[in-house]
Amino acid sequence: MPGRNFLFVPGPTNVPDRILRAMNRAMEDHRSSAFPELATGLLRDLRKVFKTTTGQAFIFPATGTGGWEAALVNTRSPGDRILAPRYGQFSHLWIDLAQRHGLRVDIIDVDWGEGAPSDRIGEILSQDTQHEIKGILIVHNETATGVTSDLGAVRNAIDAAQHPALLYVDGVSSIGSIDFRMDEWKVDLAITGSQKGLMLPAGLGLVCASPKALAAREQAKCPRVFFDFGDMIRSNATGYFPYTPSIPMLYGLRESLAIISEEGLDNIFARHQRLAEGVRAAVRAWGGGLKLCAKAPKWYSNTVSAIMMPEGTNAADVIDVAFRRYNLALGAGLARMAGKLFRIGHLGDLNELMLLGAIAGAEMAMRDVGLQLTPGVGVAAAAEHYRSTAVPLAPRTAAGPSPDPALTPGAKSSPPPPPPRAARRRGGLRLSRPRGCRRAR
Ligand code: PLP
Repeated sequence: MPGRNFLFVPGPTNVPDRILRAMNRAMEDHRSSAFPELATGLLRDLRKVFKTTTGQAFIFPATGTGGWEAALVNTRSPGDRILAPRYGQFSHLWIDLAQRHGLRVDIIDVDWGEGAPSDRIGEILSQDTQHEIKGILIVHNETATGVTSDLGAVRNAIDAAQHPALLYVDGVSSIGSIDFRMDEWKVDLAITGSQKGLMLPAGLGLVCASPKALAAREQAKCPRVFFDFGDMIRSNATGYFPYTPSIPMLYGLRESLAIISEEGLDNIFARHQRLAEGVRAAVRAWGGGLKLCAKAPKWYSNTVSAIMMPEGTNAADVIDVAFRRYNLALGAGLARMAGKLFRIGHLGDLNELMLLGAIAGAEMAMRDVGLQLTPGVGVAAAAEHYRSTAVPLAPRTAAGPSPDPALTPGAKSSPPPPPPRAARRRGGLRLSRPRGCRRAR
C-alpha cells in the first residue's frame, strides 16, 4: 500500500528518523576500552527519565515483561505475600507472573475502567500490623483500558499506614510520556520498556531500583540468573554488561535520551496531555454510544485512549477495516475487552496532524462498518482543540508581521473556537503548562 503506515497502537510507537539513523551502525566490540563511555553515560542519564538521583538503573536485553520479572526475582522469595490491584490485562499479567514465581498475591479486583484504589490499599495495609505484605504492585498506566492511576495517592496511603512494603511500579506506558517521579513517590522498583515513550524498537527492559530495593536483595531467594541485579551491578561498575548487549539498541537509547532532554520532560508531558485531550474531544463529538473505557476524568490516560463501541457492534471490524483499507494500525481490545473497544495510542514521537490522521481513519472505518457518525465530526473537534491551544507563532521575520492574529492586532482570521475543557490538574499529578502554549481562551 502506498504511503506510510499509520502506527497508532500504544506501543511499539513511531521511531524517529534520528533514532533509526543512530541505530544504523556497524557492530562494535562490547569489551573494548571505548565501550564503557557509552554504557556509563546511558546508565547515568536513564535515571533522569525515571526522575531519580538515588536509584540504580538496569538495562536488560528484554521487554517490559522482563522488567517485571527482574524487579520481583531480585527482591522477593517464594511464599512472600504481595498486594496487587487488578484493573486490566497488564495488571493481570503481572500478577500471573508473580504467582508463577511462587508469590502469594492478595488481589484487589477493580472494575476495568478504574485505577488503583488508594483508599482500599491504605485500609489493607493498616490492618496488616505484622507487616506480612512485602510489596505492592501498581501498573501506573493500564494500557488495556487507557487508565492512569494516581501514584502520589498510593504513596500517601502507604505512608499513612506506616507500612514498609516495597512499591513496585509498572511504568511501561507512562515513563517518558506521563509525569512519573520515582524519588518523590518513593517508588522502589520502576519498570519500563523501550518501545513506548522512549520511541525505540522493543528490546530493552529498563528497571530502576531504590536503595531500599537493592538492600532487599540480601534476603531475596527467588532463583535468578539472566536477570540477576548482582551480576549487572558488578559488570556495570566497570562500564560493561555481563552478556552481549544489543549495540544498535544502546546507540538508539542514547539518541532517545538526547531527544527527550532537548524537548524537556515537562514539555513532553504537556504535549501528551494536549494531544490526548484532542482525542477525547473527538470521542465526545462522535457520541452515538461511543465512550472512553476510563470511567471518570481522573483516570484518563494521556498515552492511550480505549474507546468502547456501542452494544451490538464489533471493534475488531473497525480495526480490520482501518488496517486493510487505510493503512492505519489501531490497538485491539485485550482479553475481556476483545471486540468491545479499540485503542488509539498517542505516545512517543507524535504531533497534531499525525493524530488527526488516526482520528480520521478511525472515523472512516467506523462509518464503513455501519456506525452512524456525522462525517468529520471527531476530526473537527480534535482539530479545533489543537487550534485553540496552539503555541502563538513568533513573527516570521523582522520585516514581516506575524501570521498569528494573536500577535497582529487587526489581522483577520477565523477565531479559535471556545475553549475545550482544559487539562489542568489530574489527581495528585500537577502538570506544568506547555512551554509557549497559550492558556485556552
Ligand atoms: N505493562 C504495560 C502497561 C504494557 O502496556 C505492556 C505492553 O504493552 C507490558 C507491561 C508488557 O510489556 P512487553 O510487551 O514489552 O513485555
